[in-house]
Amino acid sequence: MNTPKAGAGVSFEQTEEQELILESLVEFVEQEVELVVEKLGETLSNPRLGHDPDGRLSDEVLEAEAQIRKASAEAGFYAMNMPAEVGGDDVSAVTWYLAKKQLAELGVPLTSAVLAGPGGPKPLLAQATGEQVERYLEPTMAGEKTTAFAQTEPGVGSDSPNMATRAERDGDEWVLNGTKQWITNAPYADFVQVFARTSPQDEVGRYGGVTCFIVEADEYEIGSLNNAVGAVGRQAEVELDDVRIPADRVLGEEGAAFYDAMDFLGLGRIEIAAESVGRTNWLLDAATEFANDREAFGRTIGNFQGISHKIARGRANAFAADAAGLRCAWLLDQGEAAIAESSICKWLATNTFWEVADDVVQIHGSDGLAEENPFMDNIHRARIMRIVEGTDEIQLNTIAKQYGVE
Ligand SMILES: Cc1cc2nc3c(=O)[nH]c(=O)nc-3n(C[C@H](O)[C@H](O)[C@H](O)COP(=O)(O)OP(=O)(O)OC[C@H]3O[C@@H](n4cnc5c(N)ncnc54)[C@H](O)[C@@H]3O)c2cc1C
Repeated sequence: MNTPKAGAGVSFEQTEEQELILESLVEFVEQEVELVVEKLGETLSNPRLGHDPDGRLSDEVLEAEAQIRKASAEAGFYAMNMPAEVGGDDVSAVTWYLAKKQLAELGVPLTSAVLAGPGGPKPLLAQATGEQVERYLEPTMAGEKTTAFAQTEPGVGSDSPNMATRAERDGDEWVLNGTKQWITNAPYADFVQVFARTSPQDEVGRYGGVTCFIVEADEYEIGSLNNAVGAVGRQAEVELDDVRIPADRVLGEEGAAFYDAMDFLGLGRIEIAAESVGRTNWLLDAATEFANDREAFGRTIGNFQGISHKIARGRANAFAADAAGLRCAWLLDQGEAAIAESSICKWLATNTFWEVADDVVQIHGSDGLAEENPFMDNIHRARIMRIVEGTDEIQLNTIAKQYGVE
C-alpha cells in the first residue's frame, strides 16, 4: 500500500516570499501603471494606436514605458530575476514565471516595462565585464537604458547558426557586416546585442564560432520597420555596414554566444508561456462574465453547451499549460536544462492562448470583433507568440528529438 510521505511529494504551494511579491506587484500596477494608462487611454491599451504615421511608436508611449520601467526598477520588480551580483534579486524561475503570469492576468498594458521584456536585461548581459558593467549592464538593470537582441536576418530565422552577419578582427577593433531584421526595440534601444559569425561553421561546428557584440545606437543604421500586425512600431532592421567597434565590446566568450544563449533558452520560453497562460486566464474571465450576462433565446448564452464547453476546454488546457510552465520553471531552478519541457510548455501555452483567443471572439459575437474591444488584439498577440522564441514546428522538432525520434 502506498503511504503518503509528508513533504516528499509535489507542492504547488506558494512561499510567503512569492505571495508577497505577487501582492506588491498588483499594488504597483494599481498605483503606478493604471494612472499612466488612464492618462493616455487607448493610446496605450490599444496596440493599433500609439504610433506615429511613419510607424514609429509615439513619444508619449515611449515616455510612459520609460517612466514605468524606472519606477519598477526602483521598486525592485523590473529585473528581479537577474543575479544578485549584478543588482537583481535572484528570484527563482518559478517566482519569475508566477509574476509574469500574474501581470498578464491583470490585462494591463506596459507589462514589459514592469517586468523586463525584450528591451531589458537578460542573463546574457549579466556576463558583462570591465567597463561594460557601468556602461550597459547597470543602466539597463535600472531601466535607464534599453537594449535589443539581434539574431534573426533576412535569410535566416529558425536556422540562425547559418547567419550571414560576419565580424572580423582588425587590430584593436572588430568590423561588423550584415543585416538583422525583426529586432524588437531596435529603433529605440541604446545598444543592441548583435550575434555575428567570427569563425566558419566547417571549422568550429554548427553552434560554435558565433560571438555576441555590443553595438551602440549611433553605430548602426535602422532600416525598414518590420511591422507585425499587433506589434506595429516595435521591430526593425539593424544594418551593419563596416561598423567598427572596439575589441572590448565582446559580450561573453568569443565564439561561444550560441552556447551562452542556449543556457537561457528555457527562461525565454517560460516567459512566453507565463504571458500566454495569464492572457488566456484573463480572456476566459471576460468570456465567463459575458456568457453569464448575455441573453439569447430566453436564457444566458452560458447555458448553451456550445458556449460553456469552449470555456471549459479553455480552462482545462490553460490548467495543463500552467502546470507544465510551473514544472518547467521548477526544473530550471534545479539547474536542469529542461530542453524538452521548455518546448512543451511554450508550445502548449501559446497554442492554448491561440485557441482560446479565437473562441473568446466567437463567444462575444460581433462584440468580439469590435475595434474598441481587446479580443482581436489578443488573437494577434497569440499568433505572434507561436512564432517568436522558436516557432511551433521548432518546438515540436525539439520535443520529438528529445523523446528519441531520429
Ligand atoms: C513580433 C516579433 C518579434 C521578434 N523579435 C525578435 C528579436 O527581438 N530578435 C530576433 O533575433 N528575432 C526576433 N524575431 C524573429 C523571430 O525570432 C523569427 O521570425 C522566428 O525565429 C522564425 O524565423 P523566420 O521568420 O525566419 O521563419 P523561418 O525560420 O524561415 O521559418 C518559416 C517556416 O518554416 C518552418 N520551419 C523552419 N525550419 C523548420 C524545420 N526544421 N522543421 C519544420 N519546420 C521548419 C517554421 O516553423 C516556419 O513555419 C521576432 C519576430 C516577430 C514576429
